[in-house]
Formats: sequence, C-alpha cells, structure tokens
Amino acid sequence: MKFTFVTLFKNIVEGYFQDSILKRAIQKDILHIEYVNPRDFTTNKHQKVDDTAVGGGAGMVMNPQPLYDTLDELKKQDSSLHVVFLTPVAKPFKQNDAKRLAKKEHIAFVSGRYEGIDERVIETYADEVFSIGDYILTGGELASLVMCDAISRNVTGVLGNSQSLEVESFETPLLEAPSFSKPKDYEGICPPSEYLKGNHSKIRTLKIALSESKTKFFRPQELLKHRTRKSYEK
Ligand code: SAH
Repeated sequence: MKFTFVTLFKNIVEGYFQDSILKRAIQKDILHIEYVNPRDFTTNKHQKVDDTAVGGGAGMVMNPQPLYDTLDELKKQDSSLHVVFLTPVAKPFKQNDAKRLAKKEHIAFVSGRYEGIDERVIETYADEVFSIGDYILTGGELASLVMCDAISRNVTGVLGNSQSLEVESFETPLLEAPSFSKPKDYEGICPPSEYLKGNHSKIRTLKIALSESKTKFFRPQELLKHRTRKSYEK
C-alpha cells in the first residue's frame, strides 16, 4: 500500500518511519511512502504558498494554485488515488475508518498549515475529510501520521501477529481488559489471581468483567449502548 504525504514540511513526517514496525513494513515492501511539497508546484516568483484571507480574519490561508497543481499531477499519475484532507472541522477518524482505508491501494494525506487550506481545494479534490480530535494542531502532519499509523496496522503483513488486531479496543463496544507482563510479582504487586491460574475460560470471564469496568469508567456512554444492544439481542 502506498501513502503520499502532501506537506510543506516533509522533515516532520519522515522520522516516524525510521524505526520499529512501520520501518520493517517499508523494508518488506508492504508499505511505500512518498512526499510531495506543494511549494515545488508554485508558479509565482517567490514560491509563495499562502496569503491573507479574503474577507479578512487573522492569519494566512494556503492558496489554491500550488495544491490544485500538486493534486492534478498526483491524480494523473495514479487514477486509484484516494485523497484525504486533515482538518479539525470534519468527521472524527475512527478505528472502522482505519480498517476500511487499509483496503485502498494509494492514499494521499493533504496537510494544512497556518489557518488552513482554501476551501475550494478541499471541495474539488477531497474523497474524504477527517479530524483526529477536538483540538487545534499547528499543522496536518501529525494528524496524517496518526491516520497512516492506524491504517497501516490493518494492512496484511504489517503486524507480525494478526491476532493482536482481533482482541483490541474498538473491535467490540468494550475497551480492552488490562494486560500484564512478567514478572508475576513486581515489587509486591500482582495481576488479579485468576490471570495466574491458567484456567482460560475463567480468565476470559474475568477479562470481560474488567473490560466492562474500564468502559464504565472511561466511556460510560459506550457501555450504555452495549447494554441496550445486549438486551435487544435476548
Ligand atoms: N483555522 C482552523 C485551524 C487551522 S490549524 C480552524 O479553526 O478550524 C492548521 C492545519 O492543521 C489545518 O489545516 C489541518 O490540516 C491541521 N489540523 C489542526 N488540527 C487538526 C485536527 N484536530 N485534525 C486534523 N487536522 C488538524
């Protein structure tokens, strides 16, 4: 699968792929990463990519011309390209989107900077628009990386053990139960005793109860939905 980062600041993005799971996926040719800088497509003398907002307002807005030309070129090179814009004023990115988008061949993430991107670019080129949460970042690069990382984990072959995908939070309405590593006794603190006894059906029952407690604490609304669904199913 290929990801193209459309960004004025490639350096911010590159480092993320230089270690661990995504680095290995690139070495194994499962993932391909490319960068395109809209500044390279400017037609003005000073390679300017932004200007003050029409109609007033604070800050600079990214101009249409460099992004139109960048995206025209990318679409010309690959008609299967799926263009995603990052902006805080969009639907929230969720695990289901990560799984769905992992089936695409080629995604381009378009990062805004300053006060954002001229709306005409988004209207013309966006296949989808996502926010990663209700807060304002200085640019779309981190948001693109968040999406790229979450999507990549769902691409076949990226994770060594595909089972780890099946039992995670957001795969079910409940959050994942707590995990414990070795040693069993660390400075006098032990995991719940059922975890240590090795009776898998009892461990499963306990994990569901712990998942429910976690969900009740952190996402009470989700638990309510889950309970309603369960009572419907009966
Ligand atoms: N003026 C805009 C914010 C611009 S932030 C507003 O009030 O809505 C600059 C850029 O950062 C945006 O164009 C977008 O690409 C990125 N960005 C900031 N916060 C984001 C978020 N929560 N999710 C996705 N992208 C975000």
